Amino acid sequence: MSELRFKSVEEASSRKAVKVDLPKERVDKYYAEKVFNRQKMFEYLPRATYEALVKAIDNKEHLSREVADSVAEGMKRWAVEQGARHYTHWFQPMTGGTAEKHDAFIEHDGKGGVIETFTGKLLVQQEPDASSFPNGGIRNTFEARGYSAWDISSPAFIVGNTLCIPTIFISYTGEALDYKTPFLRALNAIDKSATRIARFFDPAVNHVVCYLGWEQEYFLVDEALYMARPDLALTGRTLMGHESAKNQQLEDHYFGSIPSRVEAFMLDLEIECHRLGIPVKTRHNEVAPNQFELAPVYEEANLANDHNLLLMSVMNEVSRRHNFRVLLHEKPFAGINGSGKHNNWSLGTDTGKQLFSPGKTPKSNLEFIVFISNVMAAVHKHNALLKASIMSATNAHRLGANEAPPAIISMFLGSQLNEILNSIEKNETEAIILQGKEGVRLDVNQIPELMIDNTDRNRTSPFAFTGNRFEYRAVGSSANCASALIALNSAVAAEFDEFADRVEKRIANGENCEKVLLDEARENIIKSRVIQFDGNGYSDEWKEEAKRRGLDTESSAPLMFDTYLSDASVDMFEKVGIFSKKELEARNEVKWEMYSKKLQIESRVLGDLAINHIIPAAISYQRLLLDNVYKIKELFDADKAKAIGGQDLATIETMAGHLSSIKKLVEEMVSNRHIANRKPSEREKAISYHDTVAPLMEEIRVHIDALELMVDNEIWPLPKYRELLFIR
Ligand code: ADP
Ligand code: MG
Repeated sequence: MSELRFKSVEEASSRKAVKVDLPKERVDKYYAEKVFNRQKMFEYLPRATYEALVKAIDNKEHLSREVADSVAEGMKRWAVEQGARHYTHWFQPMTGGTAEKHDAFIEHDGKGGVIETFTGKLLVQQEPDASSFPNGGIRNTFEARGYSAWDISSPAFIVGNTLCIPTIFISYTGEALDYKTPFLRALNAIDKSATRIARFFDPAVNHVVCYLGWEQEYFLVDEALYMARPDLALTGRTLMGHESAKNQQLEDHYFGSIPSRVEAFMLDLEIECHRLGIPVKTRHNEVAPNQFELAPVYEEANLANDHNLLLMSVMNEVSRRHNFRVLLHEKPFAGINGSGKHNNWSLGTDTGKQLFSPGKTPKSNLEFIVFISNVMAAVHKHNALLKASIMSATNAHRLGANEAPPAIISMFLGSQLNEILNSIEKNETEAIILQGKEGVRLDVNQIPELMIDNTDRNRTSPFAFTGNRFEYRAVGSSANCASALIALNSAVAAEFDEFADRVEKRIANGENCEKVLLDEARENIIKSRVIQFDGNGYSDEWKEEAKRRGLDTESSAPLMFDTYLSDASVDMFEKVGIFSKKELEARNEVKWEMYSKKLQIESRVLGDLAINHIIPAAISYQRLLLDNVYKIKELFDADKAKAIGGQDLATIETMAGHLSSIKKLVEEMVSNRHIANRKPSEREKAISYHDTVAPLMEEIRVHIDALELMVDNEIWPLPKYRELLFIR
């Protein structure tokens, strides 16, 4: 086994950067060339079809069958010209990632041959036999199939030789079986509710759009080393491995230059992304060695999320061309930073106003305060739900575990906004003239021209205001962003609706609109101020303080999922039309099931590695030492032998201690797994895995990592952290 390790290390360190095939043209020439965007629609569709399609996209309407047939014909013609031979409905199952089933563009021609064809029916709707996708019992395999249906707001694209059609995935009875369906519902809800509020300030507003700019963090590992680590290959993270003497202490990676092999990978990836219309822009090293980040220019949230999911699969592809494997796991290595996917989230009107940006007039500043105060209220009310929405078996290692920020949702607002909120809260008496039609006088403090810069940053907050947007940082690097954004947009939409109801009622009673808006914003601020925390989110004191403030501090992932079924959550989701209770129950089943399965796999791999790789290697070394001690005893008298061989004897004993602990703990872990597997519900199973299996995995690892420091380097079977983490 150690031979494999050394061969892998040698192979990895001898590699040079792979040469990238640079496009001859400028980026604007090949940007989105693999996307059936409006420009291609215009080129490939009859004029009437083009107009009907664009109208349906803009107004979120259904396509008639006739139009769909015509779109399918043009789309196929374009795709075939691009070399596509198959098409697939591309959807987002609850397992995470994306799923696809490919069909060729062929049909019998009735003469023993085939014709190339693609119809509107196939474009718009399919019934994939996807009974193997988890559905939490909603879609019984006997009872019905799932439907996938084209999301016309997200354009089709080509990957390899396949035309991919972004679709939603729902059950026969209409329940969501994916992430896209509820995400679209949530975006619709936030559009409606935010528009109600924006219209208090500007009646010309008809729609509010939600924007998302994600920042994808990831690790790269050389392929040969990855292959020599069964834990990485099977679970996406290292289940053991002693800290490298050097890791991120010097913070030299963050500021360092990008290694040439990595730069070649990034360049290749960026070109590929640009061809697919993913507007990636920023790249840099991250804090941990071998850790990097990629961010696009932000886009409308549904499209941005499709792009992120597509990016994750493109990264996998491209990394292999460069003899790397990309690790999207939230915590591939213990002791160094994990990976997140910050979600920069904002709202903007169809009249071009950014709703989380302060304006230049008191009126637009009042609008800013109204929007911010509602986000505060929503995040406060639903902090437990927001946490549940980002939680998973993998992200649990990043939040709430050892050496990670605690699993508590709070908001960072920064000193400027903090001051403004203080003065509003205190209702300081100076007067303010709002530049309304009549110039209404209000007995409130002047809201000055707000200049909020985003230099005031706090890197430890899970949810931070950054000048014109919120940065939802708790989202995990491997997650589908929709999960977090469904919860966030739904909670905020519900808050907006309640706010608008209250304001409308008071205005109907003859109160002054601006005064009511400010009053209600103040109420929000006072009620939800405890969600604000600008201090160090990693500190121990914060955990205690958060508890005192009544924020959710649950650290067990399976128990966090319960929040989805609390009265407050069910009520909120039903009110804004995102999930029925049945859907929530079904989705929770899937969450618990996924949680247990991931831990089950990890625990099996760890048991296997411990018994079949680590223990044998340690015993060989022990044998060497024993042999040495015996020979010393033969050659020297007792006293001298003790002096010379004593050290080895002590090592043998310490190793024996670790070895027997590992054996005992692995046995215990296996038996706990069996008990967990027999639990009557998915929830109890997940709780059992969390409480009785996960802690043993940590313990086993401690003994293995101790052995790693003792055993002869020549014998150690797995690539070590120092080998995995430093790309030359
Ligand atoms: P950071 O300093 O946090 O790394 P970046 O400049 O890399 O910030 O930007 C992070 C992301 O935020 C990018 O995807 C960017 O497009 C996005 N972003 C910027 N402004 C907004 C906004 N108003 N709404 C949503 N996303 C935004
Ligand atoms: Mg950022």
